[in-house]
Amino acid sequence: MGLRVTDLSKCFTRKDQSHQALENVSFIVPRGAFVTLLGPSGCGKSTLLNMIAGLDQPTSGLIEIGGKPVYDGARRLFVPPALRDISMVFQSYAIWPHMTVRENVDFPLKHGRKKWTAADREATVTRSLHKVHLESFQDRPAPLLSGGQQQRVSLARAIAQSPSLILLDEPLSNLDANLRDAMQKEIRSIVTEEGITAVYVTHDQKEALSMSDIVIVMKDGHVEQIGSPMDVYYRPQSRFVADFMGAPNLLDGTVTSVNKTAGDIEVACPLGTVWLKKSGVDVQPGDKLVLVLKQEDVVVDESAEKSTNTFELPIVRRVFLGERMEIVCALDKGTGRHLSVYVNARTPVGTQSLSFRYRPEEIHYFREP
Ligand code: ADP
Ligand code: MG
Repeated sequence: MGLRVTDLSKCFTRKDQSHQALENVSFIVPRGAFVTLLGPSGCGKSTLLNMIAGLDQPTSGLIEIGGKPVYDGARRLFVPPALRDISMVFQSYAIWPHMTVRENVDFPLKHGRKKWTAADREATVTRSLHKVHLESFQDRPAPLLSGGQQQRVSLARAIAQSPSLILLDEPLSNLDANLRDAMQKEIRSIVTEEGITAVYVTHDQKEALSMSDIVIVMKDGHVEQIGSPMDVYYRPQSRFVADFMGAPNLLDGTVTSVNKTAGDIEVACPLGTVWLKKSGVDVQPGDKLVLVLKQEDVVVDESAEKSTNTFELPIVRRVFLGERMEIVCALDKGTGRHLSVYVNARTPVGTQSLSFRYRPEEIHYFREP
């Protein structure tokens, strides 16, 4: 096992004010896995990462790295950061300005606990610089590099130590979009090639989906949902996760009938009568569900015969987004609620109204907790 966090809590207290930044957070990261902590600003991501690193004391709980406890509230055990076998990469790069690129990467090896021979150290630094494509910059003063290159230096420094765990706190937030995309792929492949277990913090859902084996969605200091990228994207278990993953079409419905053998569920919702396919959750007539209609799962083919889940709604506006067109429809008169879908921008659709369909098996649903 790479990392296990059990019932971890952190309460910040200052004068007479206290703030519960983490509340009973539990999760497991298998060895070698790449996990992201995803959530809005202020939800406790950095606090959690700092607790794992040992930069701050939790209030209670248990943290184990590679099977060994590094913090245990019940036993008052606290292993200091230098003894935790981890390295960190920060948004602010945190490289030493008075050193060259090479000296930056070498520094933790030279001053760390492990004793290296000069030759081993040199080979390791060279290898790490090679990994991040900075060999030709090795003698430059680190501040003379671009933001992206400085972040490569901190990545090289982090992997040179071959830690059992690497912690990255929004490492790409200061970079522009194109560079960020390229660096996402690079970080993921380097960390995985090195076989290092990684915990990566981001508030960007696309970044989390494209980089991770496991996504941990956080809200107000607690874990809201844990799953694969496709799980949290297609099968959110709460409004919060659905919203955060960019699913604007959440429809409140009531189950009107259930065909147990065929697994068909009929639901009355603002769109009309919608058919779903049973998935996991057991439902009875009268149950309240929230339906998730992903914008891109809409089927728009004018030629199709009217089949299950075919609807027609008045178009309110279209927004050309380049690789697709967003079409916003009025969901029901009077309430001002909308249904937004994505179609290929070249797909011909009516000007007044949109006729569309959703496949029963592609409509996800959850019960509100
Ligand atoms: P995130 O990284 O998800 O944006 P943080 O972990 O930085 O969130 O912060 C979580 C919450 O804890 C915030 O409300 C923040 O204000 C609070 N917090 C963080 N550090 C401290 C601190 N040292 N003292 C008091 N409150 C803090
Ligand atoms: Mg943070």
